[in-house]
Amino acid sequence: MPFFWFSRISSGLLPVIFLMLAAFPLCSQPPTQASIYGPVKKQDYLLGKFQPTQHPAFVKLSPLGIPVRGEQMLRREAADALRRMYQDLHREHPKVEFWVQSSSRNWFDQKAIWESKWNGTTLVEGKALNKSIPDPLSRARKILEFSSMPGTSRHHWGTDLDINILTNVYYQSGNGAVLYQWLQKNAANYGYCQVYTAGRKKGYLEERWHWSYLPVSKILLKDWKEEFGRNTASLKGFEGFQASGSLAPVYVESINPNCQ
Ligand SMILES: [Zn+2]
Repeated sequence: MPFFWFSRISSGLLPVIFLMLAAFPLCSQPPTQASIYGPVKKQDYLLGKFQPTQHPAFVKLSPLGIPVRGEQMLRREAADALRRMYQDLHREHPKVEFWVQSSSRNWFDQKAIWESKWNGTTLVEGKALNKSIPDPLSRARKILEFSSMPGTSRHHWGTDLDINILTNVYYQSGNGAVLYQWLQKNAANYGYCQVYTAGRKKGYLEERWHWSYLPVSKILLKDWKEEFGRNTASLKGFEGFQASGSLAPVYVESINPNCQ
């Protein structure tokens, strides 16, 4: 009898069922523009002009049991997938070391990195580039071998992270090789993709340590191209922009085709 059935359930299980119904749509719905950008203006989000610590979609990684260096944050969806990936890696290879070295960096962090190389405060390959490469376009290309210009790094999206060690050679032997081979085989099952692979003709050099959570970053990449792909003027706001701003779309768009 329905009434009897309902009253039996309501005695104990009903709160649990309500909780499941409330939680299920959050887990199952694909991200939308509204859920991605939240309170931040779309253009500002796409360039990283906001504080991840104050955005409701961002969570800290260490409380989820993900090994980190320093404090690291990602979007909730990316963090949950990363936790599952790390747990499965750890189950299969308990002795392999894995940690998140770097995750969310906003426009202002990236501007500081870029400008210190641009004006020679930070040396690149032992040289102050403002003196060794006076030509602005050549100087920008040199910095772009190692660092991205503000607004183009993907690190501000909350979907991208750097693991362990930031050199390709680390992933050729020992701990790094086991880790990298496991990720190449399995990361896609969790939505993760290596953005800067070897063999591309343009863009940033190979980075075996940089991984991106595609279910969200695909949407952000598409929106970035629409907003700035043909209108680089609105990327302004850092030293060297006049010379290098037009390079931005090439570097953002020239990624592993499997990550697009
Ligand atoms: Zn990176």
